[in-house]
Amino acid sequence: MQRVALFGLIALLVLTGSQVVAQDYDAVEITSVEVAEGIWMLEGAGGNLGVMIGEDGTFLIDDQYAPLSEKILAAITGLGGEAPRFVLNTHYHGDHTGGNENMGEVGALIVAHDNVRARMQIENPSEVFGLTFPPSPEAALPVLTFSETTTFHINGDEVHVFHVRDAHTDGDALIWFKRADVLHTGDIVFNGIYPYIDEGSGTIAGLVAACGDILAIIDGDTAIIPGHGPLADRDDVIAYRNFLQSVHDVIMPMVRDGMTTDEIVDANPLQPWDETWGQGFLDTEAFTRVAVTAIRNELE
Ligand SMILES: [Zn+2]
Repeated sequence: MQRVALFGLIALLVLTGSQVVAQDYDAVEITSVEVAEGIWMLEGAGGNLGVMIGEDGTFLIDDQYAPLSEKILAAITGLGGEAPRFVLNTHYHGDHTGGNENMGEVGALIVAHDNVRARMQIENPSEVFGLTFPPSPEAALPVLTFSETTTFHINGDEVHVFHVRDAHTDGDALIWFKRADVLHTGDIVFNGIYPYIDEGSGTIAGLVAACGDILAIIDGDTAIIPGHGPLADRDDVIAYRNFLQSVHDVIMPMVRDGMTTDEIVDANPLQPWDETWGQGFLDTEAFTRVAVTAIRNELE
C-alpha cells in the first residue's frame, strides 16, 4: 500500500507540475486509438502506451502506473490481445515503468536500455518536484537490457529499438515498427507541450539530436506515438525540434554568463513560447528550471 501511495504522489507531481490536485486512479479510463493494423496507442494516466497485438503475442511499450495495470490488461483483452509477452520500457520514469512488476507477474519479459535498469535501482532526486524518486523493487527491473539497438521479429513485422544518448534521460529508446511504419518516441517527444527533462541526465542538445534521428527514420506517412500529448506526425516533430533549439539558443548564453537558475527564471526568457507550449502540465517557471538544469547537464 505504501508503494502505491508513493506512486500516486509521483503521478500527481509529474502530471501537474506545481499545481496540486488529487490523482484518482479509480477515475482513470484507458482509451485506445488504432494507429495501424494491429497497433494501438493507449492513453490513461502517465506516458502514452503502444501496443501491438498479433498471432505471436502482445508487445507492449511502457506500462504507466501499477494501480492501472488491471485496466490496461482489460483494454488489451478488449482489443483481442493476450497478456503481454514483452514489455519495452522507453526509459525509467515511474509513469512509464510503474506497471512492470504486475506485467512481469502475468508473464511479460521486461526489456529496456542498460541505464533504465541502473536508474531504477537507485534514488533519483528531482528539485523541480521537490522529491526523490525511490528505487524500484527487484521484480520491476528489466530482465533483458541492451546498449545500443535490439530488434523484435514478431507478428510479421520488424520492431527496431534504438538507444539515443543523453536526451530525455540517459536510457531512452525509440521504437520503430518497420512494416507498419509506426514510431513510438517515448519522452523524446512531448507533442505540443513543455517537456519534462530528467534532471539527473537529460540534455536539450541530446533531445535535438534525437529529433534529428527520428526525422531520419520517418516520412510524412509515419504515425508517431509521442511520450505525452496526442498522436503526432512529421510536422509536429519538426516544430518540436525547432522549439527545443530555440530554448537552447536563448538559455545557453545566460548559463554561460554565470546567471543563477533563479535569475534566469526572473528574466522569463521563454515568455515568447508560453502561449503555444505552456498549456500542458509544466508551467513556464517549472519548464525554465528544467531547461536550465538540462543545459547545465550538457556543460558537465
Ligand atoms: Zn519521462
